Amino acid sequence: MEYDELLGKIMKERKANRGERFIPPDVEVTISGQKTVVGADKFAKYINRPLIHISKYLMHELTAPGQVDENGKIIIGGKFSKKLVIEKLNSYIKEYVMCKQCNSPDTQMTKIENNFVVKCLACGAEYPVGKIK
Ligand SMILES: [Zn+2]
Repeated sequence: MEYDELLGKIMKERKANRGERFIPPDVEVTISGQKTVVGADKFAKYINRPLIHISKYLMHELTAPGQVDENGKIIIGGKFSKKLVIEKLNSYIKEYVMCKQCNSPDTQMTKIENNFVVKCLACGAEYPVGKIK
């Protein structure tokens, strides 16, 4: 395939992706003993945010200890329902993914010094987001 042709194909695919609705993949939430296991690796990839950042948010919101294991699962100390975990993940998307200006999910988050900045690829807005304590 010629380079121009390839480029055209990529641009077309990008356009198609933009038109799609933003539907993050399902997150598996299971209780194992006294712990809650959250399979959010695909979710993290889809929303383009580091799993560790998502896990910190969950821990903060649920006021529970936790960690990311070697299989890309978030392990939270304590038992939490899937409904509650999904609710928290939805508020994470609202807070850290959706552009506050134009509501596009097509954003990037970068760390500048000690602060996270969200940059929107759709409208160009750039703003700092709250730190998770
Ligand atoms: Zn925007």
